[in-house]
Amino acid sequence: MRHSPDEIWSEILENLNDTAQQDVYLHQAVPLSITADALNIAVPSAYTRARIEERFHADIQRVLATLIGAQCALILTIDNSMSNSSEDPDAIETEVEDNTDPSLANDISISLQQNQTGLNPNYRFDTFVVDTPNRICHATALAVSENPGRDYNPLFIYGGVGLGKTHLLHAIGNRLSATQPDKKVLYVTSETFMNEYVESIVNRGSAQGFRTKYRTADMLLIDDIQFLERKEGTQEEFFNTFNELHMNSNQIVMTSDRTPNNLENLEVRLRSRFQSGMVAEIGMPQYEMRIAILRQKCQDHGYNLPDDVLSYIAEVVETNIRELEGTLTRLVAQATILKEELSLDLAREVLNDVGPPSPIQHRRTATSKAIQTVVADYFGIDVADLVSLKRTKELVQPRQIAMYMCRELTQMSYANIAQAFNRENHTTIIHACKQVENMIHGNEDEQQTITLLLDQFR
Ligand code: ADP
Ligand code: MG
Repeated sequence: MRHSPDEIWSEILENLNDTAQQDVYLHQAVPLSITADALNIAVPSAYTRARIEERFHADIQRVLATLIGAQCALILTIDNSMSNSSEDPDAIETEVEDNTDPSLANDISISLQQNQTGLNPNYRFDTFVVDTPNRICHATALAVSENPGRDYNPLFIYGGVGLGKTHLLHAIGNRLSATQPDKKVLYVTSETFMNEYVESIVNRGSAQGFRTKYRTADMLLIDDIQFLERKEGTQEEFFNTFNELHMNSNQIVMTSDRTPNNLENLEVRLRSRFQSGMVAEIGMPQYEMRIAILRQKCQDHGYNLPDDVLSYIAEVVETNIRELEGTLTRLVAQATILKEELSLDLAREVLNDVGPPSPIQHRRTATSKAIQTVVADYFGIDVADLVSLKRTKELVQPRQIAMYMCRELTQMSYANIAQAFNRENHTTIIHACKQVENMIHGNEDEQQTITLLLDQFR
């Protein structure tokens, strides 16, 4: 081989975007070997592996294809011996005090933030499976990304939960950013729009900044517009923003869970604006499409699952794509935790087990010890470290998650939980629970991790 694994890995890191380069999990990875077929990377835990696969697999694979060849696969291997570097003094520097203001995000979540356009680089057209239920939406979204502000302005996409609205919205933005980097693309949820608007009223100095930010975008992608129902002040502001953008032929794309007509608590003038362009529905995926999506997700994450397992998941999960993907992730994680191959039998066992959670039952079985063990195992750390006073960044977040889970799954008081984690002060637990709630709020990846961990007790 011409290059060493280290050289290839640094080359890959250099070629990734800024978000990736600052990602703490990527920096935990250690290159092991490189051949024409595979780059082997060691990671300290299942969590790190899931994280890297979730966020960067496709990008790494792309760079790898140019450096080595398209057939070269990325293989992430868990090496538990890597995970006990808790005495690293540099790491202690950057971690967060347990009693800091809960509104201050810790360094881990900062590193997970998206770039300043608000776009998630994984939601692209090439990772979006197209079939009958979303064909029209996809075609108009593509057209809009190629000729923004021309044929379909505004574009209004509506449909049920987890059917791909947000994915498409990001795909439009990512495509435009890639093909016309000088265009200013802005993705926000309507909730963020409202929060920033409120902030601009409270803090008058920022009002001009707020207006400039939204009214000078070449493309405004605004997610879950139904949230603006009954928020009259924000509706007024959005109406003005909309008109300004539209007048200048700047593209607006919105998503909603309902048609404009059915947004009953939205001003009529807004509803009629929303209907003035293209309104497209995104529908439920049928069986074949569910299989195709599962295949796509396996490719995105580098999973290698037997066809019968994929067919089984597609049969069992009919409702929405988010759940389909969640089930896939959960099965892969279960197989990792159990150190077993993901076979049809295992899939059957796990999915039948899952059923609707019974609060009474899980309160009986979840103890602080059991929770600590599951969390420590998942993050590849020792229970002793998890309940120690060490505050390195590898320990802080898993510990907070374990504390949060004790609160969710047991009837322990804050004081009891504090005791179980060798803490004197119960406010540490309150703070931890708030941190975790902030972390999962609006972040599907984090939500999935927590659900997966909570599911161990349901
Ligand atoms: P919504 O915004 O409609 O609630 P999302 O766009 O968040 O749904 O989609 C939920 C999950 O399903 C995301 O992880 C997304 O990548 C995935 N997904 C949805 N539709 C597709 C599709 N057609 N192809 C591939 N993945 C999809
Ligand atoms: Mg969405």
